[in-house]
Amino acid sequence: MSLFKSSQNGWCAVCGLPADHLHHVVYRQHCPAGTEWDVRNGLALCYGCHEAHHTGARRIRLDVLRRDNLAFAREVLGAAADDYLARRYLTGAKDGGSLGA
Ligand SMILES: [Zn+2]
Ligand SMILES: [Zn+2]
Repeated sequence: MSLFKSSQNGWCAVCGLPADHLHHVVYRQHCPAGTEWDVRNGLALCYGCHEAHHTGARRIRLDVLRRDNLAFAREVLGAAADDYLARRYLTGAKDGGSLGA
């Protein structure tokens, strides 16, 4: 099984280039043991977008995350999930984007 193929068919979720990295939506160190490689926690990214997220240069937008990414986060983090995600990903407001809701 290819984690990349199961994650956006192998394309970077941010810029659409071929992905060669797999980002942990819930960071590895925060995943309960044994869940860190759950496919629902993987987000395929290219090197540039992955690096930019972790250095803080250009954070991944919250609305880029897939439904199953969010479901996984809520499953392992419970009530803390939304706060966790909001602190690590860009919300529409901060990014000046045009989120409808
Ligand atoms: Zn990219
Ligand atoms: Zn990452």
